[in-house]
Amino acid sequence: MDKQLDILAFGSHPDDVELGCGATIAKQVSMGSKVGIIDLTRGELGTRGSADIRGEEAELAAQILGVEFRYNLGFRDGFFQNDEKHQMELVKIIREYRPRIVLANAVRDRHPDHKKGSDLVSTACFLAGLHKIETGQEAWRPELIYHYIQFEEIEFYRGTSSIKKKSEKKVKRLADFLALNAIVKIEIQGHVNAKGKNTPSNVRLSKKRAKRVLKKLIQNGIDKDRLTAVGLGNSAPVYPKPKHSYEEQANRRVEIMIK
Ligand SMILES: [Zn+2]
Repeated sequence: MDKQLDILAFGSHPDDVELGCGATIAKQVSMGSKVGIIDLTRGELGTRGSADIRGEEAELAAQILGVEFRYNLGFRDGFFQNDEKHQMELVKIIREYRPRIVLANAVRDRHPDHKKGSDLVSTACFLAGLHKIETGQEAWRPELIYHYIQFEEIEFYRGTSSIKKKSEKKVKRLADFLALNAIVKIEIQGHVNAKGKNTPSNVRLSKKRAKRVLKKLIQNGIDKDRLTAVGLGNSAPVYPKPKHSYEEQANRRVEIMIK
């Protein structure tokens, strides 16, 4: 049987693909495309859950999406490298399935594995097309590599609704994305870093943060009917028990949900 795929999607962790491009895959499968998913690591360092739970979830997601296959390469979460050993594993896979399109992680993101996975996949796609790299297979280079979007959190100064200087660019990128994708509506979710109960003042500050981003987007020409702002207080921290100041900072944020 011909193994050739239309699309091969790679993710550094077992939930990256469905979170990053699940809807695209579902749509392509419904239109008759043959799609495969390959996870690079088992996500064993993930803050929440375990590698086993993630494996079960990945399998279920694959069934729901209707892909041809999904498997895991078992690279070391957090420590795999864009080096010859890992590149050659991917070269063999790309040559085996000869995808026309490859999907990969975002080129830039808070989690270093996402950038690394993105670089590794891009490098391997190039190398797979070089005839002099011998694997006993024919050389194959995908026509296109797309990197799925991951919005970077917008961070705030402690105790305030002032956007951190380094996050201002992210708001601009978000406005650009919304300008280009006129049908997209978003919910802007504000968060705070705080221990204990989710008090009314936590909720108030988180909502103020969300509204600050909303206002900036409107100033950038985005229609207010496409935007809603909610304050989640400290109910969904990135780091439930922050140990370092950068973890506390990561909790003081606004996240974007596409509706
Ligand atoms: Zn990930």
